[in-house]
Amino acid sequence: MEKLLNGKFVASSIIRDAKNEAGKLRRDGIIPKLKIVRVGERKDSIAYENAIIKRMDEANIETEVLALPEDIDQSNLIKQLKKLVDSSSVHGIMLFRPLPKHIDENEIKFVISPEKDVDCINPVNVAKLVEGDETGFPPCTAMAALEVLKYYKIELEGKEAVVIGRSMVVGKPLSMLLLRGNSTVTVCHSKTKNLSKVTKRADILVAAIGQPQMIKKEYLKDGAIVIDVGINVDSSGKITGDVDTQDCLDKVQFITPVPSGVGSVTTAVLAKHVIKACKLVNRTVR
Ligand code: NDP
Repeated sequence: MEKLLNGKFVASSIIRDAKNEAGKLRRDGIIPKLKIVRVGERKDSIAYENAIIKRMDEANIETEVLALPEDIDQSNLIKQLKKLVDSSSVHGIMLFRPLPKHIDENEIKFVISPEKDVDCINPVNVAKLVEGDETGFPPCTAMAALEVLKYYKIELEGKEAVVIGRSMVVGKPLSMLLLRGNSTVTVCHSKTKNLSKVTKRADILVAAIGQPQMIKKEYLKDGAIVIDVGINVDSSGKITGDVDTQDCLDKVQFITPVPSGVGSVTTAVLAKHVIKACKLVNRTVR
């Protein structure tokens, strides 16, 4: 049996649905639109931006990029974001992070309205995630991991899920999503003692650590399902996950590879979120 959970299949399925919905909206005269806001010229942000534009194109969603100078000041950035919040033709706003050091993200995150906050920067969407309010937008990467489990019909209820990582973009939100699916969730981090003892309990193990190939077979219980969220680029440009896939392959029931795993699904989830945002704001139409 194939043990590798291919994110490309998951992404194609999500994009097919999003394109279908975009078509319906367009027939009603509504053009779903994502606005990317990039401050500065970070190479990784530009690469991500290109991947997003391609994906939105596949889903028949319009994308525009607002590229702002690295030295933009706080009040100007807020002014630019408010314009997008007020624009009726923009349905989703994606602000790339990290922001330059002189920008106070704690203020910025409240500026993007929850209804257009398609990657969960606004604390209102974080609260909705915790409350289980499905009108919110969980972070795309956390949601991408969940979509992989859903696509492959992996039951969450009653499972022991262990998440390594507690960031606001992956670990914490994914823990909430697994809890919503009635898994019993344990969250680990850099101060967790006897990590492998905890991870060996996991029916579903999520690695969102940022440490290349840290998870070896010794960390797994036999037949575990392993979701590797990690994206690590070595000095030669090779991409690896947080799990040593080859080492773990014999022991797992399923595992997401890197590349072609969770990372492939993130932009597809973003497309799904833009459509959802567009439908929420136009709910009187549909
Ligand atoms: P962060 O650096 O924000 O968080 C890493 C987490 O891992 C922290 O909670 C940290 O603990 C924990 N951690 C670090 N080292 C250890 C260790 N030795 N043992 C146990 N826990 C440890 O990273 P992100 O959450 O942003 O990203 C995680 C991974 O996911 C990265 O590889 C990143 O590249 C990838 N990623 C992938 C995306 C995608 O689209 N697929 C998008 C975003 C991220 P502590 O809190 O104690 O510091």
